[in-house]
Amino acid sequence: MKLELDGVSKRYGTATALDSVSLSVDNGEFFTLVGPSGCGKTTTLRCIAGFESPTDGEVRFDGESMTGVPPEARNVGVVFQNYALFPHMSVGENVAYGLRFADPPGGVSRDERVSELLELVDLAGFEDRDPDSLSGGQQQRVALARALAPGPDLLLLDEPMSALDARLRERLRQQVKRIQSELGVTTVYVTHDQSEALAVSDRVAVLNRGRVEQVGDPRDVYHRPRTEFVAEFVGENNVLHAVVESRLETGGVEVAVGDQSFVLDTGDNSVGESLTFCVRPEDLHVDAEENQIRGTITDTEFQGATTRIRLDWEGTELTVVVADDGDERFQVGSELVVGFDPDAAHIVA
Ligand code: ATP
Repeated sequence: MKLELDGVSKRYGTATALDSVSLSVDNGEFFTLVGPSGCGKTTTLRCIAGFESPTDGEVRFDGESMTGVPPEARNVGVVFQNYALFPHMSVGENVAYGLRFADPPGGVSRDERVSELLELVDLAGFEDRDPDSLSGGQQQRVALARALAPGPDLLLLDEPMSALDARLRERLRQQVKRIQSELGVTTVYVTHDQSEALAVSDRVAVLNRGRVEQVGDPRDVYHRPRTEFVAEFVGENNVLHAVVESRLETGGVEVAVGDQSFVLDTGDNSVGESLTFCVRPEDLHVDAEENQIRGTITDTEFQGATTRIRLDWEGTELTVVVADDGDERFQVGSELVVGFDPDAAHIVA
């Protein structure tokens, strides 16, 4: 099913939760809404499901307006952050609850449908178990089975992994992704975790303060952030505000940030114009020969394969990711020179 949001706004009194959101999700697509807390992800999902009515704009399923259509008539499966299983019902009864508004698809009985779904989420034979006796990840898979039981046209997942630990989250999101692509069900997934969004999605929409900042496939959004917000939120880019000093004959520009000059391969801005560019933490290299920055290390964070270093450069905080841990240059309080290749810089709006 193709899902469209056309200029959807939602206001609560004077507060604007969504500000003219337009999105189009293709049939079978795994589409993710990502953004910080309060940016409007859940409100978007609630408008799609029909739990909220947009103040303005329209939600359409396969071109048909959903205005005035109640949630139970939309054939949408929803999984929330907190598993919301009924504790007094068995696992099987919980899954069967998903069929309260619809007969099982494919002409099978309810019990057969429940077994099918439990098998799909790798919980075959769990029908008679108590939800309480299951792990968090298993409970979320039951919630997923319940949402999928009626064969929904659209699956909505609202931070379904956020209560789980990191390892389990990774496993479960792979399972969700596999099941989604097996079924080919159009899916809208909500998360505040940019790495999760990049890992599972066909496309992502980055939301900020109720507005869509950018829509694109994960690589596009990561490599070509269009705005400063997206650059910082996705990939934790270092964002620098500069003024163009000269245009280079080879293309690109020389810019000044404070009294320091940098050469960028991109940009055809005029001399004197302001621009904002970003450089990813992994593109700032120790001992790089070009575009050097001398800063003071304020913090280091060992992350296993890499170490994340915070650098204070004349009042601007920069983030650098380096591979070699234990290097004695990486001590808090030490000076460190990093630099970046002119083609690693990316200009944002
Ligand atoms: P989180 O990740 O924290 O769940 P979110 O991105 O899902 O955040 P929403 O829950 O959609 O954000 O909220 C968007 C904005 O709308 C927030 O500022 C929130 O306070 C406001 N909001 C949401 N629901 C209501 C409501 N029922 N009444 C008033 N304001 C609301």
